[in-house]
Amino acid sequence: QVETLKAKLLEQAQEISRLRSELGGTDAEKHRDLLAAENERLRQEMKACEGELRELRRQQQQQAPCRDCPHLQENARLQEQLSQLQREAEETRAKLVELDLEVQQKTNRLAEVELRLKDSLAERAEEEERLSRRLRDSQETIANLKSQPQQIKYIIKTVEVESAKAKQALCETQSRNQYLQEQVGMQKQVLKEMEQQLQNCQKTEAQLRAQIMMYEAELERAHGQMLEEMQAMEEEKNHAIEEAFSRAQVEMKAVHENLAGVRTNLLTLQPALRTLTHDYNSLKRQVRDFPLLLQETLRSARAEISQAIEEVHSTNRELLRKYRRELQLRKKCHNELVRLKGNIRVFGRVRPITKEDGEGPEAANAVTFDADDDAVLHLLHKGKQVSFELDKVFPPQASQEEVFQEVQALVTSCIDGYNVCIFAYGQTGAGKTYTMEGTAANPGINQRALQLLFSEVRGKAADWDYAITVSAAEIYNEALRDLLGKEPQEKLEIKLCPDGSGQLYVPGLTEFRVQSVEDINKVFEFGHVKRVTECTNLNEHSSRSHALLIVTVRGLDRSTGLRTTGKLNLVDLAGSERVGRSGAEGSRLREAQHINKSLSALGDVIYALRSRQGHVPFRNSKLTYLLQDSLSGDSKTLMMVQVSPAEKNTSETLCSLKFAERVRSVELGPVSRKAELASWPSQEHLEGDSPGSAAPHGRGHASPSPGQLSSRSASIRRKLQTSG
Ligand code: ADP
Ligand code: MG
Repeated sequence: QVETLKAKLLEQAQEISRLRSELGGTDAEKHRDLLAAENERLRQEMKACEGELRELRRQQQQQAPCRDCPHLQENARLQEQLSQLQREAEETRAKLVELDLEVQQKTNRLAEVELRLKDSLAERAEEEERLSRRLRDSQETIANLKSQPQQIKYIIKTVEVESAKAKQALCETQSRNQYLQEQVGMQKQVLKEMEQQLQNCQKTEAQLRAQIMMYEAELERAHGQMLEEMQAMEEEKNHAIEEAFSRAQVEMKAVHENLAGVRTNLLTLQPALRTLTHDYNSLKRQVRDFPLLLQETLRSARAEISQAIEEVHSTNRELLRKYRRELQLRKKCHNELVRLKGNIRVFGRVRPITKEDGEGPEAANAVTFDADDDAVLHLLHKGKQVSFELDKVFPPQASQEEVFQEVQALVTSCIDGYNVCIFAYGQTGAGKTYTMEGTAANPGINQRALQLLFSEVRGKAADWDYAITVSAAEIYNEALRDLLGKEPQEKLEIKLCPDGSGQLYVPGLTEFRVQSVEDINKVFEFGHVKRVTECTNLNEHSSRSHALLIVTVRGLDRSTGLRTTGKLNLVDLAGSERVGRSGAEGSRLREAQHINKSLSALGDVIYALRSRQGHVPFRNSKLTYLLQDSLSGDSKTLMMVQVSPAEKNTSETLCSLKFAERVRSVELGPVSRKAELASWPSQEHLEGDSPGSAAPHGRGHASPSPGQLSSRSASIRRKLQTSG
């Protein structure tokens, strides 16, 4: 075996050296060397050619201008040759590059082969090493075997025979052994891992044990605590039971006591119950008897009532008789009172100083009053004081209300069937319209009178039926016109009633029935609108005409069938001022004459009435003729004389006050009546009267004994005041 191995080794060494020599001289290497030499040669050739070319160019430059000379041809030929050579060189160069590339590839391949060779050499050396080791082992074995006797030769032979088998078996065993060792290694690894796991498990176990111990201790502690608590609760429970028991005992005792009380109460209540039952029974009996009793009582009551009614009837009859007698008596008394008071009364009203009066001495106040006597006023005229006495004087501060209070008795007498006239007399701007109409916020006599009539009529509505109607008329230049009619321009006539009663009436004069203040307002507004639309200047016009509001109150006493008719005439007279005697002309003069005439006529009529003359000149003016039935008989008249207190108006104020005093003084005695009879002044006379002539007489201008007169009138007034 050893021999063959040695021979093999030798063989392989020889092979290696052969391969080496083979590698040293390949065809490619030879080819490459050849090409490199060729390349070098060509390069040198090219260099030589370039040198030649340079030489030729230089020569050409030197002999430049020669045409068609043999040199030129030569040159061209040479140049051609040159370019050809250059082309060849180019081709050769490309070939050279190709070859270079090829050489490079070959060199790479060579390096590769060399590397492979090195590897196989190393392998071989290893193999060699292994083989030599085995050889040594084998030699040892052989030496051992040699030292053994004959049998060994047999064994050797056997061995030699079995060697191949053994070798194979060895090989298998080795491979098996290796496999087993690998297995053992793997098992060891597994074992190690398992040990590791075991350790971990032990650690965890120890931890868990410690925890269990801890929990056990905790449990023990909790158990102990619980036991303690249970003990405490048990004690508490016992305690509570004891307490409840003792409380229940106490309560029980109280209940027992109560029970005893209730028992005694029950015993005392029994007699009361007995009496109640008794009462109830007796009441029941009474209820049963009640209807009979009631019937009896009703019968007697009815008889009593009818008797009482009979008595009341007779008393009523008696009373009615007495009432009628009283009514007549009252009328008689009233007439007497009116007679005593005088059918014609004269009031004075002084308006306040207004802005219209201007400023300075002209607007100074010229009127003063007597603090103790409200019937007296003093006028300062041209430096002298003149005093006048009327029935009553209203100072500037007197309100509409106060003024109305003084006239309301007159107004109500209209309900009883009396005719009443209220005149506002005075110069323009003295406050006539203010007193009669007033303002919307502060109404005058007109509205207040109607309101009073309404409320009085309402108060008597139980026994009386009343109808109130109003008419409004105007007298301008002695022409009478209807302010509520459809034809305000139409002049109306005053006629005697055809029934022969001697009554006057105005055919065509519109009458409105009014039932409330609202109705009145509508009528007033309507009348105003008429006046405004008819005249360009209402103030101017109103001061030149008499405005009349005629209120008629017709009543029926339902119980007696008595009928009454009363008329209330509210007259806002035309301005009483004197128009300058020389200044006025035409229509102005005509107006002035008409006003003068009608106011004089009014004065005449009043005079005649108060002096009880047989003839009263009613027909002298439209105004007096129209008011005839309201001025005569037992009619009542109030003259409200309006004056301005301003210094500039004193002469007009004086005239107005004289008129007032004369009207008032007429009735006061037969002597004065007679005296006045001849001297009743016309408006013209009033104008002519100088204030000086009035002054020396003081109050009571025209009477022969003024002092006596004034004292008489004052005493009458006082009487009236005390008699209510
Ligand atoms: P007449 O109608 O007499 O021409 P008015 O009634 O028109 O006069 O009054 C003239 C002015 O004086 C009006 O502006 C009116 O309001 C005012 N006047 C009159 N009397 C009073 C009074 N008693 N209180 C306040 N103002 C008055
Ligand atoms: Mg007026």
